Amino acid sequence: MGIDEKVEPIYKEVLDRNPGEVEFHQAVREVLESLGPVLVKHPEFADHKIIERICEPERQIIFRVPWVDDKGNVQINRGFRVEFNSALGPYKGGMRFHPSVYLGIIKFLGFEQIFKNALTGLPIGGGKGGSDFDPKGKSDAEVMRFCQSFMTELYRHIGEHTDVPAGDIGVGGREIGYLFGQYKRITNRWEAGVLTGKGLDWGGSLVRTEATGYGATFFVDEMLKVRNDSFEGKTCVVSGSGNVSIYTMEKIAQLGGKTVACSDSNGYIYDEKGIDIELVKQIKEIERRRIKVYANTYKHAKYISGGNIWEVPCQVAMPSATQNEINGKDAKELVKNGCIAVGEGANMPTTPEGVKVFLDANIAYGPGKAANAGGVATSALEMQQNACRDSWTFDYTEKRLQDIMRNIHSTCYETAEEYGAPGNYVTGANVAGFIKVANAMVAFGVI
Ligand code: GLU
Repeated sequence: MGIDEKVEPIYKEVLDRNPGEVEFHQAVREVLESLGPVLVKHPEFADHKIIERICEPERQIIFRVPWVDDKGNVQINRGFRVEFNSALGPYKGGMRFHPSVYLGIIKFLGFEQIFKNALTGLPIGGGKGGSDFDPKGKSDAEVMRFCQSFMTELYRHIGEHTDVPAGDIGVGGREIGYLFGQYKRITNRWEAGVLTGKGLDWGGSLVRTEATGYGATFFVDEMLKVRNDSFEGKTCVVSGSGNVSIYTMEKIAQLGGKTVACSDSNGYIYDEKGIDIELVKQIKEIERRRIKVYANTYKHAKYISGGNIWEVPCQVAMPSATQNEINGKDAKELVKNGCIAVGEGANMPTTPEGVKVFLDANIAYGPGKAANAGGVATSALEMQQNACRDSWTFDYTEKRLQDIMRNIHSTCYETAEEYGAPGNYVTGANVAGFIKVANAMVAFGVI
């Protein structure tokens, strides 16, 4: 995997213009490595400088977020919203609240979101936001005051036809509630379509909570089908224990597989009988505690503090925690232990060295921008329901999600074949997502 010589100078320019943003560089490089053959078939993209334009966000907003903690101390965080590309629709993408957040993380996420959203086939552009605020250990009142302060700046930049934020790491139903409440109060508009991931009583969509995990599992199921295989009887490892991980494990169980390990940033749980998903929901969604308490309920389960979950043998691995959680060594270990499929629920969870190991081993590897697109796709379905003031049933919405994931899979599969890389979903996803956005940008002229 190298960058084509026509594309190389564009990558160099990205490095020069965005110093120190290593995750952004990584995400750009991965896409640009796929684009050489696209310029051969589509010289108009080079003439219109589409790659150069796509790598430069349309707008980047950085703001101060002051708030008062429970002890009466003033705290200051930094807020971000990167409105990356609106060729296909309003900017769309989540917000991440995590201490590791800085511009480079938001830009990598926003950049990936452009192509992911294009792959859904729905009218959504790409954007991402967040803050270095750490919700861990904060009271509900502190989270509320932070969200209110965050929205007091953000509201002027967003809207149902402009930019539609949602959740990501550290932003779930509770945060979306506080953010929506403050938006409504400041603007005096009950504008459901301005945020997605809303509560079911106030404009949310059924299946949105489950969508990223269910969607990633549907995607892996499609990859397995191509190889005349299925989840039936498979041993799986799913990292993380947040929203994506929980609903990945749930869908794996429904499709006949068994998840034996999940994790948080402190360690992992190994349960050879299969992870009790209801218990994980109780621990994480209701009690907001660490995953190690799982072993208090089940004495046969092991908690490995500080352990590396990828050492657990499995046939299907679904990284669902965070970026760069699988390195080259982990990938080799997975392949050596008999892993035949990897579906990324998280964004960019595998390092470039790890991706190379999976591709060289010819296992079914579904990159995040294809495999985890079900979350944002269901956000777009939430927007559809909001636009016609409707709400769909669970079964209907899940069916729509499954159809979307099947389409994404076949688009990536066929595009990879067309571009001479059969079975390579990285090429398929990058090329198919890029062409859709590029065609729209050409149509709009130089803007
Ligand atoms: N944060 C999710 C993602 O990475 C979902 C974004 C959304 O629903 O807008 O795609």
